[in-house]
Amino acid sequence: MISVHDQSGRFFSEEHDHRHCVATALEDAQAVCRERGARLTPVRQRVLEIIWQSHRPLGAYAILEVLSGEGHSPAPPTVYRALEFLLMHGLVHRLSSLNAFIGCTRPGHPGAGQFLLCTSCGTAAELNDTGIEHAIERSAEAEGFTSQVHTVEISGLCPHCRAA
Ligand SMILES: [Zn+2]
Ligand SMILES: [Zn+2]
Repeated sequence: MISVHDQSGRFFSEEHDHRHCVATALEDAQAVCRERGARLTPVRQRVLEIIWQSHRPLGAYAILEVLSGEGHSPAPPTVYRALEFLLMHGLVHRLSSLNAFIGCTRPGHPGAGQFLLCTSCGTAAELNDTGIEHAIERSAEAEGFTSQVHTVEISGLCPHCRAA
């Protein structure tokens, strides 16, 4: 499964064709759900699309606001359950430092990955450095600790904000 994100830089320019990112993310999500026999219901898919509206992490409350703006007013638990589903299948990641969600650019590895978070524009980019993942697992294992979630969050300035 090769997504657009593997072919270019991790951070996107303002002008990039974001519709392509969203289309790829939805195709990837449908493929993951098919493989796993999971159901991407309309509300789950809509929540995923809302998260993918930009490369900026989005909080659950913001997702609820978008849905109410569209005339649906799902109960918060409905949205939380949809988020749980997307997390469980590795379609989104939860960034605890921001209490927000970001679409996964390489679905199917829940609870892992490294994120570069721009403190100026709020954009996030996902790294999938298996070297870092393995180093964490090794060090945790050396302490007799089994890691379940090892999402690494790194804050700083993205290339666009650094140049500005
Ligand atoms: Zn994009
Ligand atoms: Zn930035």
